[in-house]
Amino acid sequence: MDFSNRIKNWYNINKRDLPWRKTKDPYKVWVSEIILQQTRVDQGLDYYLRFLVRFPDVATLAKASEEDVLMIWKGLGYYSRARNMHFTAREVVAKHKGRFPSDFVSLLDLKGIGNYTAAAISSICGNESRPVVDGNVIRVFSRLFGFHEPVGSTQSNKLVYAKANELIPAKDPGDFNQAVMEFGATQCKPVNPACNECIFRSSCYAYKNDLVDKLPVKKKEIVRRTRFLNYLYIPFPEKGLILYKRTGNDIWENLWELPLYETSEPITIEEMTQSAIWQDLLTNSNARVERTIDFKHVLTHQLIKARFFIVSYESLILAEPDLKRWIIDNPLKSGLPVPRLTERFLQECGCIG
Ligand code: SF4
Repeated sequence: MDFSNRIKNWYNINKRDLPWRKTKDPYKVWVSEIILQQTRVDQGLDYYLRFLVRFPDVATLAKASEEDVLMIWKGLGYYSRARNMHFTAREVVAKHKGRFPSDFVSLLDLKGIGNYTAAAISSICGNESRPVVDGNVIRVFSRLFGFHEPVGSTQSNKLVYAKANELIPAKDPGDFNQAVMEFGATQCKPVNPACNECIFRSSCYAYKNDLVDKLPVKKKEIVRRTRFLNYLYIPFPEKGLILYKRTGNDIWENLWELPLYETSEPITIEEMTQSAIWQDLLTNSNARVERTIDFKHVLTHQLIKARFFIVSYESLILAEPDLKRWIIDNPLKSGLPVPRLTERFLQECGCIG
């Protein structure tokens, strides 16, 4: 028996009993696909059922208000999915007279539907032999056929897609797609796959070569440089906060932030009071650090370890602000652009109103 028949047989015996597997209505399959995009099956199931009770067909969804759609979506997160669905429903009514399309080309033309979703719907509902490639499919094929390309690389996507395209049958292509994904989700799992009960054990490349925990090859870890940014939070009851404009060829260029002392490792309160920025702003005052608050902030190539030093004082005389330095009431309301880290600190520290 060939691969596609074997995995479809496995699927027929082992598949989880889920409502979207009992329909070929492209609207309902679409709803399930969008809900499951960033949601676990057990969490998404309840939302799927409630969504279809409230919006049983695309016309009802199109007629609803956006608030209605968002209400049903409440708690699921990634609300742009709900807004896109609402928009798409109106598009389907306008362009397709309310009949949700099931062919790949028309589906791709709709907002919020990409290659993966169009392939899933058109294979399940339109019987088109369009392979779907998701994380489960990549894992199963990498292990079964010995693909060593890192997950997410163009080469890995191409190889897996080509293999799936070669194996997908003309008959019941939707079952084939769902079978591979289900096999990845419940049998060939990321950790502790059930190799001992696996129907492909005797031919599986990873199993035979003792590479099950090595395949698929993980995405190359991004190497991040760690930086230690130490900020002074100096509140002025009458005036506000001091902010500096960042300059130079660095992150957050031209954005405004609290007075900064960057170091190569974490510093103590005493070390901060000896820094040039402290000397510049606070040396003639009786200022002290009340407490420190630490934040971690991850950028693509940098890990920022920020320490905010909350300063208090009895009296303070400050030179007039120059072009690089501003005193501003509430930076979050001022419209001055601030880095996300500064914004997070100001929102979470409870220091300003
Ligand atoms: S033998 Fe193990 S690794 Fe290979 S396909 Fe089966 S479950 Fe996956």
